[in-house]
Amino acid sequence: MEATAARNKTGKRHTFTAAPRVFGLKTVIVNLYFAANPDGSWVLVDAGIPGSAGKIREAAAEIFGPDSRPKAIVLTHGHFDHVGAVKELAELWDVPVYAHPMELPYLTGQSSYPPPDPSVGGGAVAYLSFTYPKKPINIRNRVELLPPDGSVPGLEGWRWIHTPGHTAGHVSLFREEDRTLIVGDAFVTRHGESAIALITQKREVHGPPAYFTPDWGSAHHSVETLSHLKLEIAASGHGMPMQGEELRRQLERLVQDFWLVAVPRHGRYVHEPAVVDEYGVVSVPPPVSNPVPTVLAVAGAVALAGAAWVAFSKRGNQNKDDDNRKSRHSAAQRPYSHNRALHDAPDHDLENPTELTNNYP
Ligand SMILES: [Zn+2]
Ligand SMILES: [Zn+2]
Repeated sequence: MEATAARNKTGKRHTFTAAPRVFGLKTVIVNLYFAANPDGSWVLVDAGIPGSAGKIREAAAEIFGPDSRPKAIVLTHGHFDHVGAVKELAELWDVPVYAHPMELPYLTGQSSYPPPDPSVGGGAVAYLSFTYPKKPINIRNRVELLPPDGSVPGLEGWRWIHTPGHTAGHVSLFREEDRTLIVGDAFVTRHGESAIALITQKREVHGPPAYFTPDWGSAHHSVETLSHLKLEIAASGHGMPMQGEELRRQLERLVQDFWLVAVPRHGRYVHEPAVVDEYGVVSVPPPVSNPVPTVLAVAGAVALAGAAWVAFSKRGNQNKDDDNRKSRHSAAQRPYSHNRALHDAPDHDLENPTELTNNYP
């Protein structure tokens, strides 16, 4: 994939071309995209890690000229590395932010995401994931719902596709004309949890980042949906864009082998998804305590790992859940969401018709 000539003030290459009229910008660990119409108007897709507003504005100026602003910001989902600058930029540009209805609780301060699962293994990124922010942002005065007809506000010829699993309201954006997909995290093009992959940037189709994926069944279904699109170009949230036959072949393979190659062998959400509704997290399976030593996981010693979990579990009588051969706890026995209905989140003023500018229930 050729890179653009766009450079920042220091002359360093700054943005990359993912597809015609689609430009990418990497903010440390995550890509965001500038998608443009033939007339030069454009939409920002995702908003990078916290603190990246300046870099995003600089890149926008490089691509579209100084003081250019988008028609809208569209979010593939609300994870912290995709919404870091959204509040600041939406205010600055005075533009709406579009997201899927199921993503709204995490964008309006109503609910945190299901807790990440550091027990899935796979390197430093996963093990450090407990340090990532978990509290939802609140952009309730800016956020709008993506239109039910599948169109993408501000972008001609694109449609959004619901690709849940990584998050419940995850969407990918598809341009039929040249079969370009802005994937979000439905699948990624590098091994998301490997610190080495972060450096080498080898292009390879992988499942969604495991430490933040709480519903593997849905995630599998979503990659299957995307594989039916006969993609020509895929620009993912993590890793460099891929294209053509190699992309299609690897995506097909991911669909076929999903439970072997994408779903972690062990982990909090492997046998049971987090339960969420339109208000946020309802319940989550019990944590699996400390990460099982990698050597055990690699050895595939299921019984041994199960025993280790029991030994390490701090949750006492709930630790039996980690043995998938045994019966699962009923929903009533599972811990209620650790963070539902945040007390410090302001209540919606339902009397004020302008406070919420969408029809979210
Ligand atoms: Zn994500
Ligand atoms: Zn991500």
